[in-house]
Amino acid sequence: MASTKVLGVSMWVLIICIKTVIARENQQLLMLLFDGFRWDYLDQPDLHLPGFRRILEIGIRTDYLKPVYPTLSYPNYYSIATGLYTENHGMISNYMYDEVEKESFLIGTNPEQYHSYWWNQAEPVWISAEKQKLNSYMYFWPGCEVTIRDVKPTQCRPYNGPPSLDDFKRVMSDIMRKFVNNEADLGGVYYELTDKLGHDYGPKSKPLNDNIQALDAELFKLTEDIVKMGLNDRLNIMIFSDHGMADMTNRTLINMASILNRNDYDVILENGPLSSVWPKPGKHREVYHKLRQFHRKMHVYEREDLPERYHYKHNARVAPITMIAEKPYYILTPVKPNYPSRKSDFQPRMGVHGYDDTDIDMRGIFLGFGPSFKAHYRGPGIENIHLYQIMCRILGLIPESHNGTWSTISGLVTDKLPPAVGGASTLTLTYLIPISLLVLICTTLCF
Ligand code: ZN
Ligand code: ZN
Repeated sequence: MASTKVLGVSMWVLIICIKTVIARENQQLLMLLFDGFRWDYLDQPDLHLPGFRRILEIGIRTDYLKPVYPTLSYPNYYSIATGLYTENHGMISNYMYDEVEKESFLIGTNPEQYHSYWWNQAEPVWISAEKQKLNSYMYFWPGCEVTIRDVKPTQCRPYNGPPSLDDFKRVMSDIMRKFVNNEADLGGVYYELTDKLGHDYGPKSKPLNDNIQALDAELFKLTEDIVKMGLNDRLNIMIFSDHGMADMTNRTLINMASILNRNDYDVILENGPLSSVWPKPGKHREVYHKLRQFHRKMHVYEREDLPERYHYKHNARVAPITMIAEKPYYILTPVKPNYPSRKSDFQPRMGVHGYDDTDIDMRGIFLGFGPSFKAHYRGPGIENIHLYQIMCRILGLIPESHNGTWSTISGLVTDKLPPAVGGASTLTLTYLIPISLLVLICTTLCF
């Protein structure tokens, strides 16, 4: 009698476990990263966006996505993919200098940026996915070609300059095929023109809006393809941007060439809302005082005095002195060979980002749809460090330690979202299946 009971219970546990595994295997995630897509681009009354409108009906949107500081691309790509603040993941800017390695990281396609140590302070979601036996396909995604903690994604289509809309269409049809064939668990597609056109012509400019409309048509098609391909029960889409964009019509330059000369510093990095200086040995005090008195709209900080709220200063890559401009001021550093790596960075353009993370122009977007997301739901703005938890839950990944909190985003998801791994479901996968199998075998053989 007891053995029948044990047999029954173990059978029951086994069925639940298998069901959990099947449910988990079925969940797929596609991440679309639209660079520089400001939170309010979607709400322009004269912009017809049927694709985004459909997503709002079938999915969720938060009022905005708050970027981390500095509100530049690399820190935010990495915060989204790791759930960590800048100081914790180490990608502290688009231009970095590592005092230990004596090497610079320059945005674009310069070879140093593929060195693993720039990335190894944290583990992005596509690397965790691979380590936990899932397949990730990343398209133009910054850093996907890098070996991080000894691992690479299943496939990376490297970034070679801003992907065109045709590139976007091509890779979208590629990743959708991978999802249909169950080859991909995680897909990531990076699209940059929303940032580039914002820089070149300004936020809400006609060329940018035309591009957003063309992108919108692709999103409309995506919602249709998901149904046609029978993916509605398993494919989840997360659409987000790394930061927003400020209009620079009234920009004012702060040109440091007039007060700093080549004998003052070893390294100086970055034109824009913030710049970093590594003074020559023995020159720190002199350079700091010179800079402090230079311009009332440029705030000058020694590393330890940077505001705590930026979650920025506690990383060895932060410079001894950082200059931070108020919007719409723009710092020009003395020019050095090889820096910046892109000509366009020498002068501010019509749109700029990198200002304070509380500035509303720096906010990005977050939308989601699919079985794990509520339908027709609009939530309050959230920080981008929280998104990582949703990614891990959809994919059933054991998360790395992160700065997010589940209660901030729990209102966005449905009960179809698999439970957090690391709690009950890890236990289910790791212990209960073998234990119940063992009990099943024992009861069959012994009684
Ligand atoms: Zn960006
Ligand atoms: Zn940009």
